[in-house]
Amino acid sequence: MSEREPPITYADWRQALEDDALLGLECRCGAVTATPKRACPACGSRELAARELPTTGTVDSETTIAVPPAGHDSGTVAVVDLGPARLLGRIDGAVEIGDRVVFAGARTADGEPAPVFEPEEN
Ligand SMILES: [Zn+2]
Repeated sequence: MSEREPPITYADWRQALEDDALLGLECRCGAVTATPKRACPACGSRELAARELPTTGTVDSETTIAVPPAGHDSGTVAVVDLGPARLLGRIDGAVEIGDRVVFAGARTADGEPAPVFEPEEN
């Protein structure tokens, strides 16, 4: 049995972030993940296809990092519900659970880009 290559790797995902896109994976069972996975978290299938995710979502939960560990910036991280999938990101600005946010690019922390969301303008 040869190991099936994932359709997107973390390198692809990071590159997409820097290109202002959110890449996820969709399984034939309908499950969607917002970060690269080797197998579907719902059914274990490895038959996953890359797909672009919506760049707006709703704050599902949020945590303010009051005292960040050395090397990390302070701020808020939140799980953003993009519709088909949820993604952990950093939040620029003040948000509450249920607020609409929009993907605003990648910020590099510790050499790793992380998605940044901002409150959506009304
Ligand atoms: Zn699946």
